[in-house]
Amino acid sequence: MQSYDAIVVGGGIIGCSIARALSDATLKIAVIERGAPGEEASWAAAGMLAPSAEAQAGSVLFPACRASLKLYESFAAELQAETGIDSQYRTEGTLLLYENEHERETMLESVEWQRQQGILIRELSTQDLHNAEPQLAPCPGGFYLPEDHQVDNRLLMRALIQSCERRGVRFQLGEGARAVQHNGTTVNGVSVGADNIAAPRVVNTAGAWAGAISVPGRRSAPIRPVKGHMIALANPQPPLRHVVRTHRVYLVPRRNGLVMVGSTMEEAGFDKTPRAGPIAKLLRAAQHLCPILEQSAISEFWAGLRPAAPDGLPVLGPSALDGYWLATGHFRNGILLTPITAQILSSWLLTGSSSFAVDALLPRRFENISK
Ligand SMILES: Cc1cc2nc3c(=O)[nH]c(=O)nc-3n(C[C@H](O)[C@H](O)[C@H](O)COP(=O)(O)OP(=O)(O)OC[C@H]3O[C@@H](n4cnc5c(N)ncnc54)[C@H](O)[C@@H]3O)c2cc1C
Repeated sequence: MQSYDAIVVGGGIIGCSIARALSDATLKIAVIERGAPGEEASWAAAGMLAPSAEAQAGSVLFPACRASLKLYESFAAELQAETGIDSQYRTEGTLLLYENEHERETMLESVEWQRQQGILIRELSTQDLHNAEPQLAPCPGGFYLPEDHQVDNRLLMRALIQSCERRGVRFQLGEGARAVQHNGTTVNGVSVGADNIAAPRVVNTAGAWAGAISVPGRRSAPIRPVKGHMIALANPQPPLRHVVRTHRVYLVPRRNGLVMVGSTMEEAGFDKTPRAGPIAKLLRAAQHLCPILEQSAISEFWAGLRPAAPDGLPVLGPSALDGYWLATGHFRNGILLTPITAQILSSWLLTGSSSFAVDALLPRRFENISK
């Protein structure tokens, strides 16, 4: 029987970043991936690193989002040094626009809460917005969030996979893990097809599918998929410098002229088929916001599945079963939360304690709920 020091189930951005961090400790690590690594939500995402735009006043996730953002520049730089792949980490910031006073008031609650914590957020007039982004249609106003950044998640994912391979992480591809094996109290491996693979530590990073991995006698991870549509519009020149967001749509410009247009939030089970209605709605909102996009070529459109827990927070840390860990449920912020998740999980697995307080995110909040 094959055996490893740790098995990571799911080769998305969360699984690969944890495998990479564990490989620093010269552990023998396998990533079990039922398809090809990095081709699900981590590929579908827009790459916004947006603690401020995503924050609700009082959010318990905000400290982790901020801590992860602080790690990003060096995370991307290290990956580039190792692999030569520039994942286009960008710091121009985000423009969060409102269409009327009611929307402004709604945004202000989170803005004020963040300002009290020392986060820089500046309000912009119609003229300021025009100066910052001349291609935007006139708009009553907005907020400039300079501390929200972005990365090209597909490039980052490619770098992460290469880095894992160079560090000796073994990818076992093409067949999914079915179940976590244990003796009642302690993990001893996973079953993949007809085979068992032994390991004293197993981390479930199977994204929206985390709940399909059975743990005999225990409750599965309570994760559901939340579908999001996206479109990539190609332009001869980048029409925007900043990420631009309204409550209807966001536009994420890449350096090569592509603009990512997203996204919807749909309860559609595991259906990833792109549908005409949501795509048309996003295109209309994008053109309304930035009229020049009417001329863009449609480069690509797709839908992906965000992994979501019932309370919308990640599920991170050890379970009640010794040796079984979860790192899933990153929902709308998994790209942002990647460096801190890798740091928390790897330090916990290696030293027995977390490098960051994550009480509200622990799996135990769901473990007592009956099956
Ligand atoms: C449209 C959209 C836009 C988004 N935009 C952003 C954004 O701008 N910023 C941000 O921070 N986040 C964003 N997100 C969220 C982010 O993409 C996710 O939170 C993140 O990618 C989750 O990563 P993951 O590794 O947990 O999941 P995934 O990337 O889905 O990886 C899970 C992996 O597990 C594999 N798997 C499943 N079952 C098994 C099994 N039984 N055995 C083995 N392997 C298995 C899958 O094949 C997959 O490769 C967006 C998501 C979507 C859908």
